[in-house]
Amino acid sequence: MKAAPFEYVKPATVDEALLALDEHLGMARVLAGGQSLVPMLGMRLMRPSALVDINGLGEELGQIEARGAETVIGALVRYADIETSPVVSERLPLLRHVVRFIGDRQVRNRGTIGGALAQADPTGEMALACLVLDATIVACTLEGERDIPAAEFFAGSYASVLEAEELLVAVRFPPAPDHCRFFERGRKHNDFAVLSVAAAGSVGEDGAWTGVRLALGGVNDRPMLAAAAAAALEGRRWDDDVIDHAAALAMEVVDAPDDVRAGAAYREHLVPIHVRRVLRELAHRERR
Ligand SMILES: Cc1cc2nc3c(=O)[nH]c(=O)nc-3n(C[C@H](O)[C@H](O)[C@H](O)COP(=O)(O)OP(=O)(O)OC[C@H]3O[C@@H](n4cnc5c(N)ncnc54)[C@H](O)[C@@H]3O)c2cc1C
Repeated sequence: MKAAPFEYVKPATVDEALLALDEHLGMARVLAGGQSLVPMLGMRLMRPSALVDINGLGEELGQIEARGAETVIGALVRYADIETSPVVSERLPLLRHVVRFIGDRQVRNRGTIGGALAQADPTGEMALACLVLDATIVACTLEGERDIPAAEFFAGSYASVLEAEELLVAVRFPPAPDHCRFFERGRKHNDFAVLSVAAAGSVGEDGAWTGVRLALGGVNDRPMLAAAAAAALEGRRWDDDVIDHAAALAMEVVDAPDDVRAGAAYREHLVPIHVRRVLRELAHRERR
């Protein structure tokens, strides 16, 4: 099957891209790396009136910047740039680490952080990392900009709160906690995850953890923050009892899907096992 007919627009500036999205009254789609959009067009799962190709906007959307304590990554930054960026490596090592679990080299050479978030795959590694790192997503229309906390961005299976005429322009990250850990169970390496777990926090000299965040992928219709579990870990020293209790609380956000990759019961079975595993590894303070 071939894509349905569409107009092709190649803006030279972000303003031109916003104008094109506005003119098409919510019927246009942004084309970034095309790694998810092009297959969906080919299967006619989408029939946009126009594609607004942002690949010429690298100057405005393709930068990785350290702005004071914050790190700002433009929407058009490719997975491969994240993998090799010294700024990301120093400030957001978790981001660099999770990219290695995404697709293959070709996908990572083309796929972008903006596309990954707008795609809102419930198993997306980038989405999970943005949740656990407490990122803010910056979206733009002709009227101006709005900041959307990652925790409020995902709205359902492959759905986000982005409006059709909004362009995701950047992702802002606060300083990362001292320790991060990620685990993914897939059918094979680089396949979409069956289950993924990311956790982050900092530990004081007294051994108590602060700024704890725990996120799960593949367990619901969207990537989930396990807030109750994180609260049970906050301000505590972690022994086996604390970790077991948090792993049990993490089940509160699980409403696992049954799909071609795994059944719901299998996913549910994996959650406490791998939450415990990630927290124990984090307790040993491996920085990733
Ligand atoms: C073989 C293969 C394996 C893959 N494996 C994985 C995997 O293991 N894990 C994973 O997470 N993903 C995987 N993917 C998906 C991949 O990560 C995609 O690159 C990503 O989901 C979309 O990024 P993109 O830049 O290609 O976006 P596109 O495909 O261009 O766009 C995706 C969607 O986002 C919208 N969009 C893109 N950019 C913006 C923007 N700036 N503002 C507003 N809307 C925008 C588009 O309109 C479209 O709806 C895989 C893909 C392939 C083909």
